Amino acid sequence: MTDKNCKNCNGTEIYSNEVSANGRLGGLGSMLLPIKDFDAAKFNLRVCGSCGFTEWFVPERFLANVKETFYKEPN
Ligand SMILES: [Zn+2]
Repeated sequence: MTDKNCKNCNGTEIYSNEVSANGRLGGLGSMLLPIKDFDAAKFNLRVCGSCGFTEWFVPERFLANVKETFYKEPN
């Protein structure tokens, strides 16, 4: 991540947190990141405090798992 500023408004007030990728809201988990060991899967969410622009990242420790589970797009 080289550019820490908001990509929408160039704001610098960014809030981030890790959130569960299989949200348990309402009991039916929406599987946003279907990887092995998906119970532990999390996203790192960055939200701009000025305009609300949101970015989702898969934390680095899950990337190997994603590579096993997802299809790599051709270059
Ligand atoms: Zn912004």
